[in-house]
Amino acid sequence: MLSKSIKKLVEYGVETGLTPECERIYTTNLLLELFKEDEYEDVSIEGEELNLEEILKELLDEACARGIIEDSIVYRDLFDTKMMNCLVPRPAQVQETFAKKYEVSPKEATDYYYKLSQDSDYIRRYRVCKDRKWKERKMGSIRFSERLIKLGYKESVVERVRTCGDVLKFVKDPVQGLKLYQAYFCKNKLCPMCNWRRSMKYSWQIKQILDKALEQYPKARFLFLTLTPTYFKGSENYISQADWTEMWEESAKLDYTPVVNIKAVKEKVAREDLHDDFSEDGIMKAVLETAKYPVKPFEIERDKHGKVIERSEEKLTQITGELLDGLYKKRQLGFGGLLKELRKELHLDDIENGDLVNTSDEKTEPTAGEQIVAYWNYARGNYFIKQ
Ligand SMILES: [Zn+2]
Repeated sequence: MLSKSIKKLVEYGVETGLTPECERIYTTNLLLELFKEDEYEDVSIEGEELNLEEILKELLDEACARGIIEDSIVYRDLFDTKMMNCLVPRPAQVQETFAKKYEVSPKEATDYYYKLSQDSDYIRRYRVCKDRKWKERKMGSIRFSERLIKLGYKESVVERVRTCGDVLKFVKDPVQGLKLYQAYFCKNKLCPMCNWRRSMKYSWQIKQILDKALEQYPKARFLFLTLTPTYFKGSENYISQADWTEMWEESAKLDYTPVVNIKAVKEKVAREDLHDDFSEDGIMKAVLETAKYPVKPFEIERDKHGKVIERSEEKLTQITGELLDGLYKKRQLGFGGLLKELRKELHLDDIENGDLVNTSDEKTEPTAGEQIVAYWNYARGNYFIKQ
């Protein structure tokens, strides 16, 4: 039940020292607000084990059951971050507590800060493991390599994909948590691991480019254009888009009539989970979300009702083969016009074939902090950390 799960999460925060005792009620209220719940029943949680991952799972299931979020990995992750943010003190508050303790004794102040970073680091570590989904991507890449074998690709190609992301070297950064500084990525066009890195890189780059573009053209609007090849003509839904269709047909020199769908990018397009989020950068978030489309994994493709399309292994292998043939020596991402110019000005690295370790422009140096190395264990199907 909701009250109990919230109580456990707050108790976890207080016990680990993330949430000050005096903010117990405040934090509880923040969480209740997230769940749009007015009632709270103070139930006993004595003797209950406080396992963060389990508590969060309970709460996420509840959020799905209540229709607050859609039951998908993406929405669960977003909501999970929101919940954790309720527990962690604001930076200004940390400084204040630190200053107060420092007056008493510098040791007490540094002890406080050390413990706080350890506890929030635990959360970050938990988030890195969960949020970044290294494990799922790695397993996706292994499945992909097995399909390559079935498709008759040569050993060296298969091996490159199979070993993609085998060893991950992170630096423990006191502020940003674990940061990747070294890894091998296969760079295959359909590798789930590599495409996930590419999508991060793309999001980061497009943010830089669009920030600049909006600086120059503050009134610019974004359009989201979908082109679906089809051999059926005159689909009613799209008939009003005839001009777009014709233009595209002409410019792309197509020998079929494509289905063209164009709409303005609105906040709601991609942020349906955040009903009340009309923040200034909402449009930007939506643009960034749509920017992920070129590299979406097709394994979990959904139909128009949002249901995952079930496909047999044979079918997935066949699609993999066709996509690889179709994408051979083709660029998937391109920038044009003003965006192309700005991209050049900013000296941004190639997304498809460039560095997939550093997905933004800040390079991580291995000497910057404690190192953590994660190895993929094939027998156990998971990463294991060597400190
Ligand atoms: Zn890869």
